Formats: sequence, structure tokens, C-alpha cells
Amino acid sequence: MIKIKLAKRSDCTGCMACVDSCSRSAISSIVEKDGHRYPIINYDLCVRCGVCMKKCPELSHFNYVEDIKALPYLSWAKDDKIRLRGASGGIFGAIATYVLAQNGFVCGCTMDGMCAKHIIINNVSQLPDIQGSKYIHSDMSGIYRELKIVLKTGRWVLYCGTRCQVAGLLSFLCKIPENLITIDLVCNGVPSVNLLKYYEDYKTIKSFRDKEEGWKHGCRLTFVNKQGDLIVGDKDADIQENGFLQGMTNRSSCYDCHYAYPHTKADMTIMDYWGEKDYPEEHFKGISCVILNTSKGKEIAERSNVVLIESKWEKCLPYNPRIGVGYKPFCRHTIERMIMPYAFQHFSKETIKKIYVRKINSFNPVWLGVKIVRLMHYKLILNYQRFQIRKLIKRLK
Ligand SMILES: Cc1cc2nc3c(=O)[nH]c(=O)nc-3n(C[C@H](O)[C@H](O)[C@H](O)COP(=O)(O)OP(=O)(O)OC[C@H]3O[C@@H](n4cnc5c(N)ncnc54)[C@H](O)[C@@H]3O)c2cc1C
Ligand code: SF4
Ligand code: SF4
Ligand code: SF4
Repeated sequence: MIKIKLAKRSDCTGCMACVDSCSRSAISSIVEKDGHRYPIINYDLCVRCGVCMKKCPELSHFNYVEDIKALPYLSWAKDDKIRLRGASGGIFGAIATYVLAQNGFVCGCTMDGMCAKHIIINNVSQLPDIQGSKYIHSDMSGIYRELKIVLKTGRWVLYCGTRCQVAGLLSFLCKIPENLITIDLVCNGVPSVNLLKYYEDYKTIKSFRDKEEGWKHGCRLTFVNKQGDLIVGDKDADIQENGFLQGMTNRSSCYDCHYAYPHTKADMTIMDYWGEKDYPEEHFKGISCVILNTSKGKEIAERSNVVLIESKWEKCLPYNPRIGVGYKPFCRHTIERMIMPYAFQHFSKETIKKIYVRKINSFNPVWLGVKIVRLMHYKLILNYQRFQIRKLIKRLK
């Protein structure tokens, strides 16, 4: 009898392809003390068929890389309403609008209270719900099976998620259907939901990157409180936003992401165009960088209401190393990460703020020491990434 074991905690991306692949419903998922969701097997229900292991992109070493030469594009949605709702240039919204106009389906991430999850829509009035990045882990359980059903209608189905989630979907489906369009997001990692435990007064997060002050100054959070009022977060003091940007509570798999390649199996890859210098007048509303990996992706992007301007790797890669560098040295096993579950359980909100908020908020030698160590750590990662990026640019030329 085969031994059934899912991916190791350190590698499991939480894509949940295993959950949907089990016909016995023997796999469910729970949020553990580190604030990340992991699948668990109920061995009483398991019949040891091994399907979950075959569908797990980590265990099957799913090949997500594509050996092609496609260039990056600078891009934004022509419709300002759509563009402003997006976290960068609103590309996803513009492409989704095209797919919905063809009577297709679109699957994206929405907020359900303080949790994020993927849903499928087929009406443009629902599009605002799935626009905008939610900088937390989105639960995919159940959605792969739903996608399989809507794909059978033969209508276009657009799916957008992080790179490990697109790998999860493609691995789950085995064969890529003609009517499926996939968009993966360049992604630095998903933070722990522990960061959200300080927001019990709020009903939900309306936007993780409100562009009221412009895209480049982004990541201002807006909340809806229990009375239904809109509350603007404090960029300098917000635990969720600062915790996300610090990247020190991320899922373990995100420190050695196995899906960070310039060209992937997704039809398109989208991200922020950080470092853009040629179109400063466009910065306020947001600019995306797009890589069109397949002819299907290129065709759909060209038919959508977007601006597409050919760019160069040396212009975007140095400002967004995550496009092609998945590994962050010395991050997974820091003492800080090891004590993180304990810290969220036992430390006061003020102490947690001192740890995660970027600005120097205490001149106490202990906290100054923590910030200095973190700065050195950050510089070390930056130098490692710069070295890798230089190699990558040479290879892509
Ligand atoms: C956790 C996370 C980390 C990111 N890190 C980076 C980064 O380091 N560098 C970079 O350039 N870009 C990053 N992005 C992508 C960036 O924020 C924009 O989403 C992207 O540029 C597309 O913007 P848009 O305006 O075209 O579309 P948007 O309307 O902003 O959103 C695009 C799509 O993202 C999906 N989505 C939103 N939240 C999630 C989620 N939690 N999980 C899965 N799918 C989700 C939505 O469903 C929608 O389909 C990240 C996104 C996420 C979710
Ligand atoms: S081995 Fe088969 S029955 Fe057991 S958890 Fe995996 S898919 Fe389910
Ligand atoms: S399929 Fe995804 S969630 Fe399941 S064990 Fe593998 S990586 Fe983890
Ligand atoms: S960094 Fe990699 S493993 Fe982590 S959420 Fe993003 S794509 Fe998935």
C-alpha cells in the first residue's frame, strides 16, 4: 500500500489542488498557529489512491517554466474607472471585461469578511468585487472543481491568481483546455493572517491599495467598519500593510518560491511596473508590466481595451526581481520567524507594532537593534537578488 503524504510544511504553497482532487473528501484545511492554511488528511476516509500526490505541483515537480523569448510590455487599462480599481494598471479588469462581454466566466479573488477567497463571476456588475490585490492568502478550496464544471460549457473562462495557484489549477486539470485563459501575478509572498487579528472592529477590507494618493505611494488600506463607514488606514502605522511589506510573516514556501520565472505556463503574467521612467504622467493611475507567454494570451490582450507598449527586461527586472528570483536567503529560519506564532499569541499590540511597523517608533536599544538587523538582512537579500537579476538579464537577451 502506498504511503500517502502531502507536501512538506516548508514547501506547501496552500494552493489546495490536493483538497479538490480527493474524490473521498478526505482532505480539508486548517489555519495553523503561524497564520497560514495547510491541508490535512483524514486517514479514516482515505483509500490510498495517491491522486492527491499526483495533483500536488510540489510533489509532482510540476513544470511551470516556459522556454520562450517573449518581451515584457508596459500596459494600462484605457478605461480610467477600471484602471483605478486595479492595484496597478487595471489590466486584469480590462481583460476580464472583454471575457465577460464574450459571455465568458471570470475567476478571481474577493474578500469575505476578513478572509480572501476565489469566486467565479459571469456578470460585469460583479467585477469590482474581484478587482484589486488582496495582500493575504486566498483560499482556493472548491474552486478547481467549480472551474472544471464551467470549462465544460465551452465558453471562455479567465482565471487569475498567484503563480502557485495557477500551477495548482493546471496540475489539477492535467490538460490545458482551449477555452481556459490563465493570468498569474508576480508575487512576493502572502503574509500570515495573524496580522489581521488586530482588526476585529472592522467588517472587511475594502482596498489593500487605495490609489487616492496615487499608485506609487500605494498600499494605503481602506476598511469598512461594523457600522458600514469607510475608514482610511494609517500607512505608517498599519500592522497589516507594514507586515505585508516587511515580508517576515510570509508562508514558508514564499521564501523559496518554485514558480518565479520570467516565462511561465500561464497565458499572461501581470505585475506592477516599478521603476517606470518614460511615462511619469501615467504614474498616478498605475502602470502594469505584462508578459504575454502564449499566442492565446497575446490575442486576448490585443483584443482587450488596454495600452500595450513593448519594453525591455533591463528596465523592469531590476525593480521587480520577483519576476524571476524566487529564493530569499536567510529568511525561512530566522529566530523572528520561529517565534512568530508565540509572539502573536502573547505579545501586546504595541510590541507587535514595534516589530512590524517600518518606521522607527522606539529609540529603545532593543528595538533599534531589531530594526538595524532587519535593515542589514534586507540589504543582503537585495544584493543577492541584484546578482541573480544581472545573470537573468544576460540570459534573456
Ligand atoms: C499577495 C500578492 C503579492 C503581490 N506581490 C507583487 C509583487 O511583489 N510585485 C508585483 O509587481 N506585483 C505583485 N502583486 C501583483 C499586483 O499587486 C497586482 O495584482 C498586479 O499588478 C495586477 O494588477 P491589476 O491592476 O492588473 O489587477 P487587479 O485588479 O489589482 O487584480 C488582479 C487579480 O489579482 C487577483 N488577486 C487579488 N488578490 C489575490 C490573492 N490574494 N491571491 C490570488 N489572487 C489574487 C484578483 O482576483 C484579480 O484577479 C501581488 C499580488 C498579490 C495578490
Ligand atoms: S490518497 Fe486518495 S483518498 Fe487518500 S487523501 Fe489522497 S486523494 Fe484522497
Ligand atoms: S497540492 Fe498545494 S496545498 Fe496540497 S500539499 Fe501540494 S502544495 Fe500543499
Ligand atoms: S511567493 Fe510563490 S509560493 Fe508564495 S504565494 Fe507567491 S507564488 Fe505562491
